[in-house]
Amino acid sequence: MLPCRSDGRPREPVRVDSPVKFNKQDHAAVLLSDEARRVSHAAADVRMEPGAAESAYPFPVGGMEERPERPALLLHSCCGPCSTAVVERLSRRFRLTLYFCNSNIMGEEEYRRRLEAQRAFVEAYNASADCAAPLSLVTAPYAPEAFLETVRGLEAEPEGGARCRVCIADRLEHTAVYASLYGFDAFSTTLSVSPHKDFGAIARIGRELALRYGIAFLAEDFKKRDGFRRSVVLSEAYGLYRQSYCGCRFSVR
Ligand code: SF4
Repeated sequence: MLPCRSDGRPREPVRVDSPVKFNKQDHAAVLLSDEARRVSHAAADVRMEPGAAESAYPFPVGGMEERPERPALLLHSCCGPCSTAVVERLSRRFRLTLYFCNSNIMGEEEYRRRLEAQRAFVEAYNASADCAAPLSLVTAPYAPEAFLETVRGLEAEPEGGARCRVCIADRLEHTAVYASLYGFDAFSTTLSVSPHKDFGAIARIGRELALRYGIAFLAEDFKKRDGFRRSVVLSEAYGLYRQSYCGCRFSVR
């Protein structure tokens, strides 16, 4: 069940079929809106350099984590293995719902394999002694054609370049919309646990989306303090399938 922000009543998970249609121009607006960026950063008094103001929120919601009831966080999860170490780090600070929103994954078979690994982790974690509070899992629609359309023209970009920023913005925008529609306090992503992902870019995108949708973004570099290595250890302990490439056909090495 999804946590509810104010009245304490839980909600049933609701599957949303792409509540908002995004296109590449939208993402360009998200990524390039300097004025919006200036306003949001002035409000939060944070700097944009990678690693700066870690865990800062994009607008004044300080004290959220000190409230008697832990805030509800919608955590975009790229895969089961990456989610392990992030859940371990956040589960005593937030009520967590994982949001598996990954239309970037090439091929339905691979998508299902990664989703099954995610489900296996949630079930095993909830049944384990490590479980601080049961995790919920919401699965977004799988729309690989929409992903290919979103990154059209950027296929030849290197990993970590413009295609990846658009891909991350796409998945985070769906997460922000869902979090805003269903009463979460904040959203975030497991993506920063990967050594291949630029935390500065993720933080910039998240904060832009936070301003756009009026919901706090937890900007935290989960690869720090050995986060990636911890995810490898935990995913082995849970026996999870770990893929050898990021997800899209352009990332297959
Ligand atoms: S390499 Fe990964 S982050 Fe970059 S576009 Fe492909 S799936 Fe997205």
